[in-house]
Amino acid sequence: MRLKNKKVLVYGLGSSGISVLERLIELKAKIFLFDKDKEKTKQVANKFNVSTFISLSEIKLIIVSPGVRKDDKILLEAIRLNIPIISELEFGYRLNKKATYIAVTGTNGKTTTVNMIHSIMKAYNSNCLLLGNVGTPLSSVKAKDALITLEVSSFQLEYIDKFKAKISVILNLAPDHLDRYNNLDDYYTYKKRIVKNSTNDYLVLNYDDENLKDFKPSNCNIYYFSLITFVNHGAYLYNNKIYFVDGGSSEEIMDIKDLKIIGIHNIANAMAAIVVSKLQGIPTNIIQSVLKNFKGLKHRFELVCEENGVIVINDSKATNVASTVSAYKNISSGSYVLLGGSSKGEKYDQLFQNKNQKFHYYLFGDTAEEMYETAKNYGVQNKCIIFDSLFEAVDLALHNAKNGEMVVLTPACASFDSFKNYEDRGEQFIEYVRAYYEK
Ligand code: ADP
Repeated sequence: MRLKNKKVLVYGLGSSGISVLERLIELKAKIFLFDKDKEKTKQVANKFNVSTFISLSEIKLIIVSPGVRKDDKILLEAIRLNIPIISELEFGYRLNKKATYIAVTGTNGKTTTVNMIHSIMKAYNSNCLLLGNVGTPLSSVKAKDALITLEVSSFQLEYIDKFKAKISVILNLAPDHLDRYNNLDDYYTYKKRIVKNSTNDYLVLNYDDENLKDFKPSNCNIYYFSLITFVNHGAYLYNNKIYFVDGGSSEEIMDIKDLKIIGIHNIANAMAAIVVSKLQGIPTNIIQSVLKNFKGLKHRFELVCEENGVIVINDSKATNVASTVSAYKNISSGSYVLLGGSSKGEKYDQLFQNKNQKFHYYLFGDTAEEMYETAKNYGVQNKCIIFDSLFEAVDLALHNAKNGEMVVLTPACASFDSFKNYEDRGEQFIEYVRAYYEK
């Protein structure tokens, strides 16, 4: 990519912005920096000996971080001035065009699924990398001809131009990030841009998702996975066994009892990983052995402990309603679910509307009152208690839970009202639970 002496604005200085900056230095671009945190902008500019941003007048390219909103004033002005804007993903792609990409997006399950896929790929081929939202930015590597499994967010897809993957996956689409998008359609449209530049490449879709079932872009070979119905091309579940089929006869891949990860949603994630692996030509015995040993990730429906028959689960990464509703499917009647945090503009009806669901709802954080009001509409307010903090809620839940019941932190909200992030919330929850049982 030729950027020598070209004036480039790096907009947003999180980890992906810094990795963009480092690559631009190598490419000898004339770099300008901007972050809404002025102090940070100055510090980074000093450290790397580059300029801070003053005006758009001579800027020839903007590389924008996923955290910057589309309606940001500088970006709107740049669009008016016809200055090209690309995301870190697009920049990283242009630097690593020779690599082969497996790109995974969706509202929930991305991190889990890319880890599954990458573990399978790694067991077969040593030249592979796991990149993107999951941790290491694409632009930070020199991948040459590696096989890259990439976690892709809708924010990164807002500003792609040439990016394309050999295999794209959309796991599911559900309300999220309504604080960032005008409406749901907007959000879903950006997710679907993952196949914008596909040319006869593969697209793997969740057939059980009403928002995806009828998505049939003509530039892709479409494969499906389904927990509930037979599909002609892809993976399906029959008698608790996962099968793969590609038009002809089906091949049994594995029994779901052999999966170590907990939760029905993780069976769906495993099926997506299986379809990708089959399309990539991985032998079935390798897929089986990796998935049999794949334990799941921290803060995602993670087993904390089992004490006196009470199972405690940390699902702090459930930061939207859809992920909590999927957790509900794995929670026994009479259990205690801990809900609340900071709002992302979602409605909470789905948390309370299922009449067959017999949970105690312990509410905490900024959204507790709003959740309580929603619960009233479904006549389950007597099952709800509002607490001043997560810890008070956990304390009573652990005290009340009996043999066979569960205590599950699955907040359906972001964590920024009281915690640094979802990891911090999960860690503090685990610590509290351990201390409780050590008393
Ligand atoms: P993401 O990277 O998309 O945020 P994660 O794998 O980190 O996804 O999981 C986020 C949350 O969503 C966790 O609470 C997890 O238990 C839940 N989850 C994982 N996979 C799915 C799925 N396929 N459908 C719904 N919820 C899921």
